[in-house]
Amino acid sequence: MPIKRVLVTGGAGFLGSHLCERLVGEGHDVICLDNFFTSQKSNVLHLLNYNNFELIRHDVTHPIWLEVDEIYNLACPAAPGHYQYNPIKTMKTSVMGAINTLGMAKRCNAKILQASTSEVYGDPTVHPQPESYRGNVNPIGPRACYDEGKRAAETLFADYHRKHKLNIRVARIFNTYGPRMHPFDGRVVSNFILQALRNQDITIFGDGGQTRSFCYRDDLVEGFIRLMNADDSVYQPVNIGNPNEFTIKQLAEKVIELTASSSKLIYAPLPEDDPLQRQPDITRAREILDWSPTIELEQGLERTIAYFRSIDLGDFRPPSPNH
Ligand code: NAD
Ligand code: UDP
Repeated sequence: MPIKRVLVTGGAGFLGSHLCERLVGEGHDVICLDNFFTSQKSNVLHLLNYNNFELIRHDVTHPIWLEVDEIYNLACPAAPGHYQYNPIKTMKTSVMGAINTLGMAKRCNAKILQASTSEVYGDPTVHPQPESYRGNVNPIGPRACYDEGKRAAETLFADYHRKHKLNIRVARIFNTYGPRMHPFDGRVVSNFILQALRNQDITIFGDGGQTRSFCYRDDLVEGFIRLMNADDSVYQPVNIGNPNEFTIKQLAEKVIELTASSSKLIYAPLPEDDPLQRQPDITRAREILDWSPTIELEQGLERTIAYFRSIDLGDFRPPSPNH
């Protein structure tokens, strides 16, 4: 495989750091760009000794001139608590980040992949969600900064493809979890595991009947790589996620079982616009990328629980208040 110069924006984050690891392992020249809003340097510390890895502290809302062959654009807070902290900045990150990375791709004639999301489907009325579904998004709700930001980024990608023949890829990622998730991200998997390990009450929002389909991070990274390496005709969005669907209550019970915790379930109000069901239709990924997830929820949870047991929470800071 030829060695490529690859930029990963948001490369110090949960998914980005694993992607960097994989690309460095394949021998590529990897530039990790991050402003460390929802991550920290420790996620990529183990890569700093490699000659083919470089770390840049930079905010994607500002232009940057680099020479690269491929770009994975992951920079964006992803957990609801993180992206709602400064919603205007979240929208800027999606839109300006897309404009700046697309501009770089155009100048360098680089291939570019956007980390999009199942949130482009909003609170879906079609189930499971195929890529052809146009979504049910509230444009002015608390999740809109993220959902509409990602939708606008997809629009920019599509227009750069149409107007400038840019070689684009769009991955619509469904809930992904695993080791190196931020312990204070407030996402359901990290919350439940931390609560269970401390034998604290497990906070179920709503009645716990809402569903999510959880993908283990290694499967996701494999999907990313396959999408980037796919035939150049693959410019349409591709769902990447695990189609096995669980209710949030089932997830809580599974976490309690796997941690042998004495935690009890407690119920809190469902946040506004919280999607009631979510399950990817991955027919396109199966057909085009020959990709499907391989890690079952229980196996992935065991690895994630082991990770959360191993970390010292004192080593982590909540996202900076300066963004
Ligand atoms: P994460 O928060 O761990 O990673 C995002 C990274 O982007 C962090 O390192 C953060 O510091 C960085 N970042 C944020 N704003 C930035 C800016 N303005 N400039 C530079 N860097 C910035 O989240 P993640 O789960 O690793 O998500 C990575 C990408 O995948 C995101 O774009 C997210 O929207 C997308 N995604 C993730 C999931 C999931 O379930 N994990 C689902 C759908 C989409
Ligand atoms: N959730 C929950 N308890 C928590 C955190 C989240 O019940 O402590 C629910 C949340 O309301 C949503 C689901 O779990 O229905 C997934 O939430 P998360 O924030 O992980 O991701 P989302 O898919 O909503 O972006």
